[in-house]
Amino acid sequence: MYGRGPWKWSRTSGRKRRRVEGEENQSVLLHDVPRRIVWGRRSHLDATAWICDVCQHQNEPTRHLFVDLPAFSCGNCDAKAKRVNFRFSFGNLAGNGKCPIGKILDQGNTDDCLLFALAKGTEITARIRTILSGSKDKIPTLDPYRLKKMYKSSRLAEGTGGKISYKDAEAMMKMIELLETNGIPNKARTRTYKIGGVDETSEQFEDIATELANGYPLIVDIFPGSGFSDLSYREVYKCPFNYKTKPAGRRATLHTVILVGAGRWNHGDYYYFLNSYGEHWCVRIHKKTHRQIGGIGKICPEDICFPPYKFFRCM
Ligand SMILES: [Zn+2]
Repeated sequence: MYGRGPWKWSRTSGRKRRRVEGEENQSVLLHDVPRRIVWGRRSHLDATAWICDVCQHQNEPTRHLFVDLPAFSCGNCDAKAKRVNFRFSFGNLAGNGKCPIGKILDQGNTDDCLLFALAKGTEITARIRTILSGSKDKIPTLDPYRLKKMYKSSRLAEGTGGKISYKDAEAMMKMIELLETNGIPNKARTRTYKIGGVDETSEQFEDIATELANGYPLIVDIFPGSGFSDLSYREVYKCPFNYKTKPAGRRATLHTVILVGAGRWNHGDYYYFLNSYGEHWCVRIHKKTHRQIGGIGKICPEDICFPPYKFFRCM
């Protein structure tokens, strides 16, 4: 998609802005989770404690839904944190034995990345909600083209003179509205899957890592360049530019993907992102099972073009 400028979502209610409350060190309470979560299985790459150089205070990691993150500043004197390594991706997290990502989709030779990101973002949101509520419901793969059809036939597409865009900022806002009000049905149309709302998050690495650690997939735009289509899993991809550094007059196409994890490793920070180029893109081999897993890559934090979009879970 292209032509997207920074814009504000105006329908954010007070409920959506409510702060996430951390509870002791045993459980996590989120306003859009149907019950208090006591999370047993943690990532083996959970962060460790660090001692503040200024006041010698020991800063324990903070407990989040899926992973423990290091304290990003000293809890006693507010001094800047030491860099503590951590990494987690929804692709590796088995919440109650289930992976929230599901089938890796392929947009093929289309420019339908936005449709794919919105449908998959809704699906992951529904799947995480199901895992958290302890329900045994199986969330199906949601069809991006069902969303396209719904948008095309809805009153939201009126006034476009028959020329409907599925990739600009306006289309995104309207399709997000559809995800909130109608949702995407399963194949048999016996159930629909909605999101509980949407919000823009901060662009800071620490804030984004925290949202992801609390189980929110984040929709973002990037400007991919050469080497993106054959990215290796070991590599952290660096886009040629972002929205702010793009040379004036340079033609470039935005690509929409979903952030599904974050990592801080020695001197570098990065995000894990879910692409829509199929399961043979960016393949890695699982250390223990030797199974080939594709679909998820790593990207530099400064490549993100606008504040990410966070989908709230339905209550
Ligand atoms: Zn301190």
